[in-house]
Amino acid sequence: MAAIVITGGSRGIGAATARLAARRGHRVCVGYRSDDDAAAAVVAEITGAGGEAFAVRADTSTTAGVETLFTAAGERLGRLDGLVNNAGVVAPKARVDQLDEDRINHLLRTNVTGPLLCARQAVLRMSTAYGGSGGVIVNVSSAAARIGGPGEYVDYAASKGAVDTLTAGLAAEVVGEGIRVNGVRPGLIDTDIHEPGRLERVVPSVPMKRAGRAEEVAEAILWLLSDASSYVTGATLDVSGGR
Ligand code: NAP
Repeated sequence: MAAIVITGGSRGIGAATARLAARRGHRVCVGYRSDDDAAAAVVAEITGAGGEAFAVRADTSTTAGVETLFTAAGERLGRLDGLVNNAGVVAPKARVDQLDEDRINHLLRTNVTGPLLCARQAVLRMSTAYGGSGGVIVNVSSAAARIGGPGEYVDYAASKGAVDTLTAGLAAEVVGEGIRVNGVRPGLIDTDIHEPGRLERVVPSVPMKRAGRAEEVAEAILWLLSDASSYVTGATLDVSGGR
């Protein structure tokens, strides 16, 4: 049994990960930004099934929010064993020549600054160099990091490219301190993150000819969190139906 913080654990891939982690016996801190009802529903489902979970409302794109999240997690969980860096946002379909600074910075703060700040807190708590017992970090990237998001959101794709680099660099940095760092690159997954009509529009370009389910990504994340992947670090696994 492990104690795990899941950012963006209230909806979509994060919620599926929280449910599966709890079913596997882990204690789960569900981070979220603003949707109290969704977070409460995930926690109620887990605790109703006999699992252990609690929610913390905190904006992970800010230092203050990340400190709130990890302080609350520490008070409830005690020791930390894992972090799933999952909270992320997209933005409406646009070409690069239509972007503006506010949109770009919002994406980068949420999708890059947030995961870096959360990774920092996790390393401070889990690294044997700081007296911790080791642990695991799983970063949620996107197939967009490989594809580039042309005509849709190159800024989002670039933010996920940064997440892949975070995985590679941090894994090498803390490999001697008991921490494994890996990532997943989901492809087209059926969650509320998409603009209306996007799933239907993009499905034909997926070799498996269907969108993935959040639960299918959660399975990969749980494998990377588990000892079954004990010799895996610095890797990013595509969960994308061949896309
Ligand atoms: P989602 O259904 O829109 O859920 C996003 C979650 O992140 C929510 O729990 C949300 O909380 C939280 N969140 C967003 N901004 C936050 C912030 N600043 N601070 C704290 N929490 C924040 O998204 P999803 O589809 O599950 O995506 C999860 C991750 O997978 C993201 O990193 C996304 O880029 C990545 N991904 C998704 C797909 C896909 O097709 N769905 C594909 C590739 C990668 P609130 O609801 O409270 O705002």
